[in-house]
Amino acid sequence: MPHRVLVRILTMLIAIACLPSANADEPFPAHRVVGNVYYVGSKALASYLITTSEGHILINSSFEETVPLIRVAVESLGFKLQDVKILLTSHAHSDHVAGHALMKELTGAKVYVMRGDEGIITSGGQGQYLYKDSRWKPCVVDRVLDDGDEVKLADVTLIARRTPGHTRGCTTWTWRVADGRKTYDVVVIGSPNVNPGYRLAKNADYPEIADDFAKTFVILKSLPCDVFLGAHGDYYGMTAKYEKLGGNTNPFVDSEGYRAYVDLKEKAFRRTLAEQSSQ
Ligand SMILES: [Zn+2]
Repeated sequence: MPHRVLVRILTMLIAIACLPSANADEPFPAHRVVGNVYYVGSKALASYLITTSEGHILINSSFEETVPLIRVAVESLGFKLQDVKILLTSHAHSDHVAGHALMKELTGAKVYVMRGDEGIITSGGQGQYLYKDSRWKPCVVDRVLDDGDEVKLADVTLIARRTPGHTRGCTTWTWRVADGRKTYDVVVIGSPNVNPGYRLAKNADYPEIADDFAKTFVILKSLPCDVFLGAHGDYYGMTAKYEKLGGNTNPFVDSEGYRAYVDLKEKAFRRTLAEQSSQ
């Protein structure tokens, strides 16, 4: 087999292996993060519930198979899944949005998606960069968002920041949350990751990918962040922080951790860009 073909096959296998699969999913105890923000995801795939007096906002449905885990998590906190009014997205990869159609069916929630990712969700996976064979149930998108758009429900206002690169409509959510007498800036990072198999240079499928990632890091570094969250718990050390709950301080308040994570991911992006540009 020619070397180039072998490299291609290996790259594809690595790319497939790095997309979390549904059966790798396990439940995780639902918990309050801060104020009216709760973690209701599985162990690997983060979902957040933001509760209000007029219903709730949910970020990420994960896989279709994860939806029942999210339901159990929401109910374990004393809330109802049917009260979810708005369903949001970190980015249009199967592990965050393949359950959107089922979640919409169960709740009647409106689905809001950042421009660039909306076609992938309405088609059930078509038009993705790299993951050409990844497909799921299509879901109606009720509103297409642009960078800086506000999502309002009762007294909660989330701001959608378009942080592209990982996907074209990758979204970082940021908003202020009151907890006791304090107010915190919350950031849910959409994904700063250059996945295995991504081409940052000479990429005919996504020519602006490197510029997009560069823009994303400018935005991420500009955001005020007290409570550091992300599309996967492992972005922010969710399991270790969860173990520390119940002390005098809230372990999810981690401004330094946020800065260090963004810095680490930007360095990884710059390194890969330099490597691939010189090839
Ligand atoms: Zn992803």
